[in-house]
Amino acid sequence: MAGGDVEVVVVGAGAAGIAAARRLHDSGVGCLLVEARPRLGGRALTVIDESGFALDLGCGWLHSADRNPWCDIAKAQGASIDTSLPAWARPSLEFGFSRAEQEEFGEAMGSFFARLEHVAQNQTDVPSSAALDPGCRWNGLINAVSTYISGAEWDQVSAKDFDRRQRRELAGDRRPWHRDTKLWRRPASHARLPRDRGRPSRRATESRD
Ligand SMILES: Cc1cc2nc3c(=O)[nH]c(=O)nc-3n(C[C@H](O)[C@H](O)[C@H](O)COP(=O)(O)OP(=O)(O)OC[C@H]3O[C@@H](n4cnc5c(N)ncnc54)[C@H](O)[C@@H]3O)c2cc1C
Repeated sequence: MAGGDVEVVVVGAGAAGIAAARRLHDSGVGCLLVEARPRLGGRALTVIDESGFALDLGCGWLHSADRNPWCDIAKAQGASIDTSLPAWARPSLEFGFSRAEQEEFGEAMGSFFARLEHVAQNQTDVPSSAALDPGCRWNGLINAVSTYISGAEWDQVSAKDFDRRQRRELAGDRRPWHRDTKLWRRPASHARLPRDRGRPSRRATESRD
């Protein structure tokens, strides 16, 4: 593209930049997508080993998948989507953690999130740990889940911030631990979702020709 044709410069070829450039290009607006790295995708990065196994080093999950627009994009790309429950929502092997205990933990976690949602409505913000049941034998594991979600245990996570995050992420789905919350995967490389959006669509190719 000649320099004079560029009306908009998009800086950064992650999902957001690619989507913006895609839309501008398809609307006939001359645009230049600039990326500092030698690859597209930003924080979407999949490494595929010799056996063909795809390991997502960045994003990998389609959150709130039943209303996540990336699902339609994946389908339009002809990609398969794994709609089975994520591993942590399925029973695990019973080594040292019986099925009954797993169910008990699941119940405790669900009750914790319900209390947390309630606590977050208080006028004054408090640490999310206020929603822990003091005598609950699963508090250690519930705290471990927080380190996975937020990088810190519940006593360092604001109840209001966590609640806001959940509402934003789940777009109104108020039971994050509930099995009805859809969390799907594009197993054959999540990174191809935004990356393939960088390819010219038919319409764009035609208008360019
Ligand atoms: C480990 C990990 C796991 C994640 N898991 C999930 C998940 O399961 N589900 C989910 O939905 N989200 C997940 N995310 C978040 C998701 O990856 C990001 O929200 C999304 O990829 C961000 O896209 P973006 O385009 O906004 O930014 P980025 O992907 O960060 O893209 C920004 C791009 O801009 C480039 N850039 C920056 N500055 C300049 C400059 N000055 N000049 C040129 N280029 C520049 C960068 O190199 C980069 O390529 C995860 C993120 C990480 C890191």
